[in-house]
Amino acid sequence: KLTFISCYSTVSDHQPAETVKGNAERKEFQAETRMLLDIVARSLYSDKEVFIRELISNASDALEKFRYLSVSSTPESPKLEHIDRPLNIQLTTDKQNRTLTFQDSGIGMTKEEMIQNLGTIARSGSKSFIEEIKKQGAEEASSIIGQFGVGFYSAFMVADKIEVFTRSSIEGSQGYKWSSDGSGSYEIQEVDGVPIGTKIIVYLKTDCREFADDTTVKNIIMKYSNFIGSPILLNDEQI
Ligand code: ADP
Ligand code: MG
Repeated sequence: KLTFISCYSTVSDHQPAETVKGNAERKEFQAETRMLLDIVARSLYSDKEVFIRELISNASDALEKFRYLSVSSTPESPKLEHIDRPLNIQLTTDKQNRTLTFQDSGIGMTKEEMIQNLGTIARSGSKSFIEEIKKQGAEEASSIIGQFGVGFYSAFMVADKIEVFTRSSIEGSQGYKWSSDGSGSYEIQEVDGVPIGTKIIVYLKTDCREFADDTTVKNIIMKYSNFIGSPILLNDEQI
């Protein structure tokens, strides 16, 4: 039996190449997530840059969770891998490919966590947003997106595709790739060579190419990220 293996070029050369294994599994988004994504993708909300704040805050949460686990572990708790790796958030802009990449060395996700966290609306902000839309109607969406904050999904305001590479920090975890264009479904695939933590590649829509510009991104990071407890690097330079 033949298996097709393809290699992905990585963001910086000091990282191992990720190798996709086997076939992708396609899954439908939960109905409410589909509704949310639909609204987000078509939103005329003008403050699109907030997606950077959301993805940095998720990366920061992931690092905090890892720090907590690494100090609170008991002999019964699952063993963690590479406790001594640098804990940081790295952003990389790529104008040519029109991408903005967020990489953290935090807690990462297992396959089940990825399906639960990126496929359904578990978080309260997105839930209340959907409830409000059901009350007020979708026309109001643009004006209330900012109030509720739709977390990870806000990246679909600027992206026509998002890829997530993640590996849980629990010892021996398999790496995975999650990808979606934000319409009805997403794909999951096993990937080897994924560093512990999470890397999110945002493929920008043509009219959102400004977010692949390093100066623009730097200004946005400085505006929002005063309270982030972990180092943030942009194109390998500490912010
Ligand atoms: P919230 O941050 O309010 O929980 P989000 O929509 O921003 O909601 O993220 C949903 C969930 O996806 C998070 O709660 C977390 O479990 C998971 N997640 C998102 N980004 C990351 C990341 N960089 N590392 C680990 N888990 C993440
Ligand atoms: Mg969040």
